[in-house]
Amino acid sequence: MSNAYDVIVIGAGPAGYCAAIRCAQLGMSTAVVDEFVYKDGEPALGGTCLNVGCIPSKALLDTSENYHRVTHQLASHGITAQGVELDVKQMIARKDKVVKDLTGGIRQLFKANKIDWLQGHGKLVEPKTVELTRADGSSERYTGQSVVLATGSRSVEIGAAPLDHQKIVNSDGALEFTEVPPRLGVIGAGVIGLEMGSVWSRLGSEVVLLEAQDEFLAPVDRQVARTAQKEFKGQGLDIRLGCRVTGTQINDAVRVSYEDKNGPQELEVDKLIVCVGRRPNTDELCSKEVDLLLDERGFINVDEGCKTNLPDVYAVGDVVRGPMLAHKGQEEGIMVAERIAGKAGHVNYETIPWVIYTDPEIAWVGRTEAQLKKAGIPYNTGVFGFAATGRARAMDQTAGMVKLIAHAETDRLLGAHIVGPQASELIAEAVVTMEFAGSAEDLARTIHAHPTLSEAVHEAALAVGKRAIHKAN
Ligand code: FAD
Ligand code: NAD
Repeated sequence: MSNAYDVIVIGAGPAGYCAAIRCAQLGMSTAVVDEFVYKDGEPALGGTCLNVGCIPSKALLDTSENYHRVTHQLASHGITAQGVELDVKQMIARKDKVVKDLTGGIRQLFKANKIDWLQGHGKLVEPKTVELTRADGSSERYTGQSVVLATGSRSVEIGAAPLDHQKIVNSDGALEFTEVPPRLGVIGAGVIGLEMGSVWSRLGSEVVLLEAQDEFLAPVDRQVARTAQKEFKGQGLDIRLGCRVTGTQINDAVRVSYEDKNGPQELEVDKLIVCVGRRPNTDELCSKEVDLLLDERGFINVDEGCKTNLPDVYAVGDVVRGPMLAHKGQEEGIMVAERIAGKAGHVNYETIPWVIYTDPEIAWVGRTEAQLKKAGIPYNTGVFGFAATGRARAMDQTAGMVKLIAHAETDRLLGAHIVGPQASELIAEAVVTMEFAGSAEDLARTIHAHPTLSEAVHEAALAVGKRAIHKAN
């Protein structure tokens, strides 16, 4: 194996592995340095997303949804089941298999594309030289004509709730409980808090979420957030806003001290998940001599094309500005590979969709009403509730709605906000429309199959022009 490559990527999460595959497709010799070791001791590709992020969390969300359906939601269909049991060990084993199958798949893709996987820690010691330190302590230097930094992120920790990895855990630990905790506390009612809180709540935990902000899901459209909050409350998720956690004490249980508008409060739980955001992995990335520019929060400074301040060094994914989402990192990885190859790679940051995989799901793309008001952009909205669609009725999943926002003068679609069944899939239609600079009228003139949930998108588009058919405008 030669130590010289066209491209060296550090980090094999979605940003790094997509960059590497696209580089290899474009004929460049490519190596990826990654140090991730799965809980069974095996090194694994795929980064946070495949090993301890998107995929395992969705595997548990699916299991818990199935369990909850059988135990709580099928009676109206005339289905009752007795003796339904949950095998947490099997649930976790299935999740592990899903993870292993997918990370093994990335390994196969690396082989097929002739990408070398250099296992261990990578450090940029000169702008085009990466030092690999293996688990046994040995090290070796490799050079790349270009280097792509894709080292991802890790959970933020807070002094008031230090992890003991048994009773107080981060999202990694929340994927590994061996039994359903009777009482579960969650610090941070953000994306991870809501998803992991939902998993364990559906399986029987009493869940309390302590959120610092006074507003629920602050980045989300207000109408959508309010609908979701009401649904979650109905499901038994106890979401407490405006809470400042001041300390924790571990005995047989975890005692959490916090303050809210009524003064000091106490909460006792069996497990506590801390999910208050993530921060970039940049601390062990460069030797002192390498003058890589970081921002004040430790993210690598990049331009629109993900170029850093160092020549031929790029950075993509969670380690740079923008939303910490797998698909955002993937697109940046592909863009950078194409730019290295002299092509016109591009990411449209205006059309990155967000999804929260709760029940109902929450999904959005583009701007909110609040953002448009602030920017002084005139707009019209069209809202259509799932309750008025035949398909949602047939499914008995009628909560939520689709809201579309279009420019008041040009009708160009500026944002879509969905809370309801299959919002994760439905949002794609709005993303495509926005990518093609389409209008609400374009969506309104598009034929949607009946009966489908997508009819709610169609009707919301009609509602922008006050001509929805299945509701009073
Ligand atoms: P990562 O996936 O973090 O990969 C970075 C890799 O680099 C890791 O393997 C790491 O070990 C390795 N590494 C770091 N430093 C070095 C070094 N110096 N040398 C060698 N290797 C190094 N996003 C979504 O879009 N959808 C979801 O549903 C979703 N669910 C999530 C659920 C959870 C519980 C969590 C925690 C995250 C979730 N995310 C989700 C976020 C998503 O996982 C990240 O946005 C995504 O993984 C970022 O990809 P990345 O390639 O930038 O970094
Ligand atoms: P988040 O930013 O979504 O939510 C963190 C929440 O914690 C916020 O509401 C914040 O106000 C609150 N908070 C911060 N400090 C606090 C404190 N001391 N006490 C109480 N509350 C506090 O972060 P996350 O849930 O940790 O997730 C991290 C990132 O991972 C997400 O932003 C997202 O980019 C990614 N992620 C995405 C998905 C998805 O796409 N479905 C799923 C999980 C994670």
